Amino acid sequence: MRDFALAPLFAPLTSLRGVGPALARLMARACGGERVIDLLFHLPESFIDRRTRVALREVRPGQVVTVVVEVVRIEPPANSRQPTRAVVTDGTGFAEISFFRGFPAAKLPVGGRVVVSGKADEQRRFVHPEHIVALDEAERLPPVEPVWPLTAGLFPWHLRRALPEALDRIPALAEWHDRALLAREGWPGFAAALRALHAPPAPPGPAPRRRLAYDELLAQQVAVGLVRRRVRAQPGRALIGDGHLRAAALAAFGHALTPSQTTALAEIDADLAAPTRMLRLLQGDVGSGKTLVALLAMLRAVEAGGQAALLAPTEILAQQHLRTLTRLAPVPAALLSGSVKGAARARILRRLAEGELKLVVGTHALFQEAVSYRDLVLAVIDEQHRFGVDQRLLMGRKGAATDVLVMTATPIPRTLLLTHWGEMAVSRLTDKPAGRTKVRTTLHGMATLPDLVAAVARALDGGARVYWVCPLVAESETADLAAAEARYAVLARHFGAVVGLAHGRQESPVREAALADFAAGRTRLLVATTVIEVGVDVAEASVMVVEHAERFGLAQLHQLRGRVGRGAATSFCLLLHEDGLSEAARARLLLLRDTEDGFRIADEDFRLRGSGDALGTKQSGGPGWRLADPVDDEGLLHMAGRDAAVLLDVDPELTGQRGRAVRMLLEVFESGAAIDTLQSG
Ligand code: ADP
Ligand code: MG
Repeated sequence: MRDFALAPLFAPLTSLRGVGPALARLMARACGGERVIDLLFHLPESFIDRRTRVALREVRPGQVVTVVVEVVRIEPPANSRQPTRAVVTDGTGFAEISFFRGFPAAKLPVGGRVVVSGKADEQRRFVHPEHIVALDEAERLPPVEPVWPLTAGLFPWHLRRALPEALDRIPALAEWHDRALLAREGWPGFAAALRALHAPPAPPGPAPRRRLAYDELLAQQVAVGLVRRRVRAQPGRALIGDGHLRAAALAAFGHALTPSQTTALAEIDADLAAPTRMLRLLQGDVGSGKTLVALLAMLRAVEAGGQAALLAPTEILAQQHLRTLTRLAPVPAALLSGSVKGAARARILRRLAEGELKLVVGTHALFQEAVSYRDLVLAVIDEQHRFGVDQRLLMGRKGAATDVLVMTATPIPRTLLLTHWGEMAVSRLTDKPAGRTKVRTTLHGMATLPDLVAAVARALDGGARVYWVCPLVAESETADLAAAEARYAVLARHFGAVVGLAHGRQESPVREAALADFAAGRTRLLVATTVIEVGVDVAEASVMVVEHAERFGLAQLHQLRGRVGRGAATSFCLLLHEDGLSEAARARLLLLRDTEDGFRIADEDFRLRGSGDALGTKQSGGPGWRLADPVDDEGLLHMAGRDAAVLLDVDPELTGQRGRAVRMLLEVFESGAAIDTLQSG
């Protein structure tokens, strides 16, 4: 249970005066969430300083300046394409304030003295300056203006108006940091830091942001530390199988394991066999065969007499995993997801509790309160970056000694791994299954669309199956959808019944059916949004077209491309981009064309777009950092790690004065589940 004092922070944005549902949705899009705390944690990227007044004579083009001037005269536009102009002076020179529409006549009376803040051009023209206030109301001009990341339709004044009330919601919280540390770093308190950034009386300098970054990092380090300690404190169970299920599964699979699959499996088996709990990350590029390794590990758990669960990020993937499992081994298994309801659900829950079901595959539904297991010994979590820290923790709590295996295609750098996962052991799949073909990637301008459609027609005639991935439309899921539906309509008119459509807004049975049709070859051209990004496995698909490839992250494109090249046929990935691509955008796509090395691509993405994207967190709203930057704040990260370790050594139950304050910190950063590990200890 979250502390009552924090309720105002977690209230919806609509609880703020002047914020209705529509504005709240816009804000949520920019802030990554629709609660007051999401707004508070939406920090400005930079600040405009409006305090320094300069003489007109000294105004440089392109610089934001604030000037105090007198209005000399108003010049109406000569024609409709001309602006209305106010000619102004301050005695050192003249300037013009121009408006193409909405000239604020009341604010610019001839002879009036006004404060103007904005950017001037070479001719010393202020075109639509951001602020004009009468001199005797100059205090209404914000001295320093935060520049927040926005989204279409959201304006700075929306945030400026909502923030004071949001800031006032911050309850009085006991300081969770060491006083000596604060003094040494010159850091303000939590609320003061947020104030200094969102409503700054002066440019804030680095201290407030670093303070907040440290809050976030410490919360995470303490959460990880708590879980780790609990895992260590509880003995695991030695799981040893006789190998009969696994041997049968491998025979049914029909291929030998790759060398790195063999190694990874041996490492996992050793963990399973040891009387301690496993916490292991299985890392491997798209298509490296992680799923097979995980399924074989699950079969070992069953051989040892226990149950195993596989948590997938989407229902589509869960179903796919279940199909693979049932094909490989004759073991009672079921799917549990949000869409399994009523009697069917009750039956699955009963069979899980009684231990009759040995394997379960599903989504978040797997770790809800109501689900209990007879003897859950292994939890596998697929594509971890889609799940929050809390959720991962919950999964490990379903069994007394549940081993946890996390699979990810994200090539998380070593230092980040340590900090996200603590001392997690890592197995890496470094080679790809034999028989996977190289995907030939080519770039095409939008003007060549008709040729591309002709090429797709030839491929379909030759029996190929084709993914057509629709453009990512910046900042709007609805627009993404519209783009997909429009493309579907065009292609369906062209190709007829072989065209299918799959997107995230479909009812899941509809989407499942679309994917199943494609997998079975009933449709052969699948128009899709990025719902196919994660893990969809149709070996016969050999062509992928990505529209507006320049709008996707490189890592995401790589992930998408991994959907083809899974079978024997030579595969193609056609990246369709807008005409007149910038040099930089072209360079990114060329890199993708020229390499299939996921690590290199991720490195490049990391360099180009910042680390949050490489972790896949900015895009997916996962458990990434909101206030800290894993690269810039690496020093703070190590500090937080040591700080957390010392704290937990002296106060492992977090009951001392600082410990109690730190509990609050964990709740502010939504790692409260880590605290529960203390109770359920
Ligand atoms: P990942 O989960 O790492 O993206 P998958 O487990 O989905 O990769 O494997 C990609 C494809 O390769 C699947 O079709 C899978 O059946 C196949 N595969 C996995 N391991 C092998 C292997 N050792 N030999 C041949 N094919 C394999
Ligand atoms: Mg996968």
